[in-house]
Amino acid sequence: MDTVDVVIVGAGPVGLLTAIELVLGGASVLVLERLAEPSTAMKALGIGPLGREALQRRGMNAAMAEAEARSVAAIRASTERNGPDIRAGGSNFSGHFAGLPLIRKDAQQDPERRVRLMDQQAVEAMLADRAHDLGIELRRACDVTRFVQRADGVEVEWTSPVGEGRIRCSYLVACDGGRSTTRKMAGIAFPGTPPTTTMYQAIVEFDDTEPRLAAGWRRTSGGMLSYGPFPGRLFMLDFSGPPADPLAPVTREEIEAVLRRITGTESRVTALHSGSRWTDNTRLADTYRQGRVLLAGDAAHVHSPFGGQGLNLGLADAANLGWKLAAIIRGEMPESLLDSYTSERRPVAEAVLANTRAQLAIMRPDPQAGAMRDIVASLMQFDNVNRFFGEMMSGLSTRYDLGSERDEVGRLIGDRPLGQGNTGVSLYDVMQDGMGVLIDASREGEAARIVAAATPRIRCVNAATGPSMLIRPDACVAWAGDGNSTAGLEDALRRWFNPNIG
Ligand SMILES: Cc1cc2nc3c(=O)[nH]c(=O)nc-3n(C[C@H](O)[C@H](O)[C@H](O)COP(=O)(O)OP(=O)(O)OC[C@H]3O[C@@H](n4cnc5c(N)ncnc54)[C@H](O)[C@@H]3O)c2cc1C
Repeated sequence: MDTVDVVIVGAGPVGLLTAIELVLGGASVLVLERLAEPSTAMKALGIGPLGREALQRRGMNAAMAEAEARSVAAIRASTERNGPDIRAGGSNFSGHFAGLPLIRKDAQQDPERRVRLMDQQAVEAMLADRAHDLGIELRRACDVTRFVQRADGVEVEWTSPVGEGRIRCSYLVACDGGRSTTRKMAGIAFPGTPPTTTMYQAIVEFDDTEPRLAAGWRRTSGGMLSYGPFPGRLFMLDFSGPPADPLAPVTREEIEAVLRRITGTESRVTALHSGSRWTDNTRLADTYRQGRVLLAGDAAHVHSPFGGQGLNLGLADAANLGWKLAAIIRGEMPESLLDSYTSERRPVAEAVLANTRAQLAIMRPDPQAGAMRDIVASLMQFDNVNRFFGEMMSGLSTRYDLGSERDEVGRLIGDRPLGQGNTGVSLYDVMQDGMGVLIDASREGEAARIVAAATPRIRCVNAATGPSMLIRPDACVAWAGDGNSTAGLEDALRRWFNPNIG
């Protein structure tokens, strides 16, 4: 039987980034994907800063800039037809909570770290290109149907149009989405709250005699509607209950009926170009690891799509897991390092699930929800509250508990110029090949000497101003020290890079 270090189930955004992280860390990888071709279903229209930064650290900055420019141009085209859209560039808009478009750039500590427009197909295409450049094998039309986990590895089986396949691997990573069969086969519980509403995302054409819909979010006595950011795109929340048959195809008549119920007008939908249905089914895996089987992305957590948080969450899972698993496969770190994957990432997902439930509660059409919504909107006028909402929705409030009292330790650091002898080079530039980084702001270079003796997998760069910081490959600050102090640095190196030092 063929063997490989890691089999990844699913070539969605999370599966592809996990594969890239693992290969950069020196592991061999096979990605198995059920679909014969990349999905054309319309899903994410934007990506949060942590997801975007994970791609930027792996060489996709130019591709993202192009994808963002395309999306912004599509909005501008829509603006000409339908009036201004709050999501277009240049405004103070920095995101919404429950359809309240009140999160402001000028209230954020780092306004550039925010959700950027770009569609999921573009994100998946750039990840697939990068994976291809790295020589990652992606086998399409392979539906993983079974696996057997043993003490020393996992045997994975799939079916495909050309027959059945089997491979042996050391670890299996399930990135197979919310309905993950791998998670179910592993017996990992997925508790949560069942669906109460039905949401639609559709691209439609209207009878031109009908009044055009205003762009942006609108709450009515019948539900909620968001029109835009490009012509014909509708996002609707229907509070009359979960769908009778979630898998039945969405029809033009259904979209028209829901639109009429929400807007209270006789809107006529003349064509449906694409339509999908979702619910507020909200669930979180009990654990992200069962032996040699790991979960990442929607396979580990599902929630309603308000605020566009799924990619941010799933791509940060991939960034967190990939380098850790690669270090274990290289034999440099013990398997217990994987415990930190669940303990760091699961609470972040728990918080996202909670904020999507809270959003839904104040989107309901009843007067009680409306009264609470008004209070939330009033509170958001305060700068510090506004910043709280901004950092919650962008994920920038994420801070792993690494046991340090220093605020920067455990946070995911954004890109920044390095300065001092590194003119024109940024932090993320030196992270492109998946290495950790020591930013050494001390004058004596003692931190750099300790790091160089501990591992070749950390790049040392000088900085003009402090603090000095040890940064993991997922951009998490693992240690920080002022002046020439190296107190705690060896402990951090032992914990994340080399348990045998000292
Ligand atoms: C309407 C909507 C709007 C959204 N908007 C946003 C947004 O604006 N911003 C944002 O960040 N997020 C958004 N999301 C969420 C985002 O789309 C998901 O979080 C994201 O797709 C999760 O990626 P993933 O790789 O974990 O899973 P998926 O994208 O679901 O990929 C899973 C892959 O696994 C494959 N697979 C499944 N089973 C098997 C099997 N047995 N064998 C082999 N392959 C298998 C599937 O074919 C699929 O390709 C939105 C979601 C929805 C529904």
